[in-house]
Amino acid sequence: MEKVITINSEETEKLGFLTAKKVLALAYSEKALVLALDGELGAGKTTFLKGFAKGLGINKKIQSPTFILMNRFPLKDKKFANFYHFDCYRIENEKEMDCLDFNDVLDKKTNIVCIEWASKIKNILPKKAINIDFKVGNGNERVIMIKNLCQTKKIIS
Ligand code: ADP
Ligand code: MG
Repeated sequence: MEKVITINSEETEKLGFLTAKKVLALAYSEKALVLALDGELGAGKTTFLKGFAKGLGINKKIQSPTFILMNRFPLKDKKFANFYHFDCYRIENEKEMDCLDFNDVLDKKTNIVCIEWASKIKNILPKKAINIDFKVGNGNERVIMIKNLCQTKKIIS
């Protein structure tokens, strides 16, 4: 587990960027690579994913897909073909994910899948997911806990 405290959104974006670089360096697993993000509204999940998408080489603007639930971005990477961004804020029942072909997305090892409000669908998430929890600290501080990924802290500070 790694705990990083950021003091502005630029730092949170940078942490996302560096996390993407690490994820790209990971070996294939059998299924999609999943990042499960949790934390209250405004805690920084989408900000983190803006940097994460940049780190994956995506130039398009990342917006919170709260109303459309899912966005897909093609990747120009040797290993990974797609970046999926889900936002489960409005999901009330895990079954609602079926209509988004969520299981097919999780089955493909060439997919990188990031999920905001992941705890809402925790029963259908892979156990191997990288968990990232966001907490609002004092003022603009955000306390970001990353589980199941090697250290990024040294690079950001
Ligand atoms: P979420 O997706 O978790 O609801 P967002 O990333 O959309 O959160 O929003 C975070 C908000 O908090 C933005 O308005 C951002 O400018 C602000 N903010 C202030 N400090 C930070 C920080 N350290 N990290 C991330 N966002 C911050
Ligand atoms: Mg968001």
